[in-house]
Amino acid sequence: MTQHTTTVAGVEVDTRHWIGGARVASAETFADLSPIDGATLGEIARGGAAEAEAAVAAAEAAFPAWAATPRAERARILHAIADGVEKRIEDLAKVETLDNGALLRSHRRGVMPRVAHNFRFFADWLLTLGHEDFDTRGHTNQVSWDPAGPCVLITPWNAPLMLATWKVAPALAAGNTVILKPAEWSPLTASLLADIAAEAGLPAGVLNVVQGYGAEVGNALVSHPGVRRISFTGSVPTAKRIAAAAAANLTPLSLELGGKSPLLVFADADLDLAADLAVEQYDNAGQVCLAATRLLVESSVAEEFTRRFVERAEALVQGDSRDGASDLGPNIHPRQLEKIDGFVRRALDGGARAVIGGGPNTDLGGLYYRPTLLTGVAQDSEIVQEEVFGPVLTLQTFDTEAEAVELANDTRFGLAATLATGDPECAERVSAQLVAGTVWVNCFFVRDLQAPFGGSRHSGVGREGGTWSFDFYCDVKNTVTAP
Ligand code: NAD
Repeated sequence: MTQHTTTVAGVEVDTRHWIGGARVASAETFADLSPIDGATLGEIARGGAAEAEAAVAAAEAAFPAWAATPRAERARILHAIADGVEKRIEDLAKVETLDNGALLRSHRRGVMPRVAHNFRFFADWLLTLGHEDFDTRGHTNQVSWDPAGPCVLITPWNAPLMLATWKVAPALAAGNTVILKPAEWSPLTASLLADIAAEAGLPAGVLNVVQGYGAEVGNALVSHPGVRRISFTGSVPTAKRIAAAAAANLTPLSLELGGKSPLLVFADADLDLAADLAVEQYDNAGQVCLAATRLLVESSVAEEFTRRFVERAEALVQGDSRDGASDLGPNIHPRQLEKIDGFVRRALDGGARAVIGGGPNTDLGGLYYRPTLLTGVAQDSEIVQEEVFGPVLTLQTFDTEAEAVELANDTRFGLAATLATGDPECAERVSAQLVAGTVWVNCFFVRDLQAPFGGSRHSGVGREGGTWSFDFYCDVKNTVTAP
């Protein structure tokens, strides 16, 4: 008989879908492996077209009542979900760590509290959304934010629950129903979220979670004509497939994609700060969409900057993500490790030099890749142009501000950029010229959920965050009334 639950780090997790307020099994399953030691964490339900159909039907059935639920009541339930997340931070942190290999201490202190905050923030923001009124020759225009309908939310494995709830919370707050499909490499915390939401009193069918492969259940969901919004975070090739499927039904899309962001270090920068910022790019073993993986350093300080960077990078401890001493855990999957190493091999074959790292950590074995810095890389080379999604940085130098901007903008991405400079005017001039959804000046990763988040060019379509999320998840309506 198929087992329907698995116990991970002492926490029981249901491995089935959550559809219409009930657990639903599939005939087939797939194995979920831990990146830390390769252990099988569970056999997960492998959804297909039938499960996608059932989930959309459940979301359609639950939509009218949830959309009609007063905002204050929706907000109350979202806060109750946040309470549930806060009560289970330890469970969620341990399960996520085994499932995706990111550091336990980050999950405990940063990520899971942020998951709860995602719900609280959008619950509160919902209550501030005004009915904007304006006047045209005595006629009143009243702008309202109507729920759109069932939303399909498709998420990646690098920050599974954080990225999922960044979409689930505003979609639910707006009065929509949701079908969440987590990544097949990190399916577990989405299942725990379904339990937490049910306990918090979210009505059946308002949040549905389906498990399985992107090409199977994922494709069936994004191709479904009953879906009113698709929000996707993941890679560019998948985004193109999803956009093509959505086009058939003209389903509005929000796409949060990859990046190849620069860190520009000017000669007048605090070089200790700049080196700290650069080393931070190895967080989550480099599996961060926003990571500034291209270090662009003014020639006159390149040697000193590199010295300070290497000193810090060499002090990083690589090891089991559950160990509080570890700074860098494993990468997610053998396929990802191969992909990372392929990029580095080809760069080295093409004449690049590894200042540090340059291959897997053979002392540790498994999926650990040494933090790597490559120099001697050409602007048009693959390693400078393509997202590696591993602990691999490149370093190039520039001599003028104009050259720095040119190098920074010269990829097909535009997600983020970081500047290290002691000159506020330089920061203002340069940030105005950068193609990026977010620019950080002398800081990195500081996020306010009120602010817009997204990417330009191949880094994404649309913005989410604060009112931008409600713009996307609502049908915004204008009602014009005669005097
Ligand atoms: P991916 O594109 O391989 O998969 C993402 C999700 O899409 C998974 O749930 C997968 O099952 C699903 N999927 C795959 N094919 C599908 C299809 N045909 N139809 C529907 N769904 C499908 O990406 P990944 O490897 O999981 O994630 C890494 C990528 O995500 C990187 O490029 C990274 O930069 C990006 N990312 C972006 C952000 C951001 O906010 N911009 C945040 C995190 C990660």
